[in-house]
Amino acid sequence: MSTLEVKDLHVEVSDEESQETKEILKGVNLTMKTGEIHAIMGPNGTGKSTLSQTIMGQPAYHVTQGDILLDGTSLIDMSVDERARRGLFLGMQYPAEIQGVTNAEFLRAAINARRASDDQISVMDFLKKLDKNLALLDMSESMTERYLNEGFSGGEKKRNEILQLLMIQPKFALLDEIDSGLDIDALKVVSKGVNSLRGKDFGSLIITHYQRLLNYIVPDVVHVMMGGRIVKTGDADLAKTLEKEGYAGLRDDLGIDV
Ligand code: ADP
Ligand code: MG
Ligand code: MG
Repeated sequence: MSTLEVKDLHVEVSDEESQETKEILKGVNLTMKTGEIHAIMGPNGTGKSTLSQTIMGQPAYHVTQGDILLDGTSLIDMSVDERARRGLFLGMQYPAEIQGVTNAEFLRAAINARRASDDQISVMDFLKKLDKNLALLDMSESMTERYLNEGFSGGEKKRNEILQLLMIQPKFALLDEIDSGLDIDALKVVSKGVNSLRGKDFGSLIITHYQRLLNYIVPDVVHVMMGGRIVKTGDADLAKTLEKEGYAGLRDDLGIDV
């Protein structure tokens, strides 16, 4: 079992135009273990993406206080690559196009980058795993021979992101708004992919603005983030209450002004 801990995390970003720094995360605490799926919900602009980017180590996000630990080891001074090698995965909101690399080549490189040099995946094992996951996600094999993300529709990019997740099998997946822009059929496929990883060696932090996704990927724990802090934690029912009462209702209940 692995544990990912976020302790009193304070994060600043600098505005490119004004060069002013702004504190976005104001003391976030969160502990998750493999075997668990956590959801973070919250209004736009509240710091959800900042949290996932900071956990993954994107350099634009400056940690001014607090720590992020994987099995007790601080990740704070580690690069994105190092964190990925240790088992973290961040699903991008807008995955980039990478020129001249086919999807299959990218996937194999991504798997091998996370493995030791004497433990690289064989072509046979790679293809077997790829076929299995393509079938699970109802994706055509031709998708893997196309250049990564070039000319992919929004839905294809999301599906492909889940394909990456299934191929890489990280310890912890940070999935930021994987539901945005998906129709109901694509949402079901994406959810099926994530659910297929559920088990004692996999944990996920699912970030979403809406409750809908959580009907398909039922979380063990739901956190609500507002104003750069987690203001409430509960079980899957909390997401349903929020859907009914909205964030405004919760603001009133908690007497917070953010
Ligand atoms: P959410 O995902 O909850 O909608 P974000 O984490 O994307 O919220 O954004 C929180 C705040 O931080 C917003 O005011 C946003 O403009 C700001 N912010 C996020 N990332 C950056 C960045 N790289 N540079 C400048 N400001 C940023
Ligand atoms: Mg604090
Ligand atoms: Mg966001």
